[in-house]
Amino acid sequence: MIELTGVSKTYSNGAVGLHSTSLYIDKGEFVFLTGNSGSGKSTILRLILKEISPSHGRINVNNKDITKISRSKIPYYRREVGVVFQDFRLLQNKTVYDNIAFAMQVIGSSKKEIMKRVPTVLNLVGLAKKSKCYPNELSGGEQQRTAIARAIVNNSPILVADEPTGNLDPTTAWDIMSLLKDINSRGVTVVVATHEKDIVNEMQKRVIEVLDGRIVKDKYSGGYSIERTYN
Ligand code: ADP
Ligand code: MG
Repeated sequence: MIELTGVSKTYSNGAVGLHSTSLYIDKGEFVFLTGNSGSGKSTILRLILKEISPSHGRINVNNKDITKISRSKIPYYRREVGVVFQDFRLLQNKTVYDNIAFAMQVIGSSKKEIMKRVPTVLNLVGLAKKSKCYPNELSGGEQQRTAIARAIVNNSPILVADEPTGNLDPTTAWDIMSLLKDINSRGVTVVVATHEKDIVNEMQKRVIEVLDGRIVKDKYSGGYSIERTYN
């Protein structure tokens, strides 16, 4: 589903975001990307989102080499990968409902589809009662739920989250992580960058640890426990 082959990224100022890295994430997996600040987590996610291009290597997502997608096709590609950020990035002048509906309008969904789908997704993230609120009337956790609803409303097979609990208190952080787990159990492949060690340890999911632009550990938990160490 997501495959990096010999992918490296050097930024224009010479900073190395990622040394040559190979990585495979299967359909339906839940993966944590961990590591200290500056280790390369966001670089990996931004490469998957095609926000940045690799300096070397191939990136396959949903059986497409995304390094070869032309500029005009990028918006179509982005529909296949929902994304959530630490700072929510909601439209402040739109209600919860309209923030989510807008993501469907952008891709040309009909009014009828929107009216059917948005309430479903609001229910799923537990925000049915807040649909008329504006972002500044919501708690951080509710804002992140809205952002997650927006990220999944178009049925993207992949959801990527960059420090989704970074601005939240521990209890709310747990709620958000279990919501992501819920979404994963519905078949969405979920990749979460985080350095919340407690949550990562408790959740017992695959953990890919990055350090200075290299994967230093890739630990599968659950039914098929293997541990690989990269040099
Ligand atoms: P993390 O998300 O784990 O904190 P990043 O992927 O953001 O790490 O950063 C990895 C390395 O790449 C760091 O050394 C960082 O300074 C560098 N970097 C990230 N983004 C840029 C950028 N836009 N321009 C230059 N260097 C960058
Ligand atoms: Mg980051």
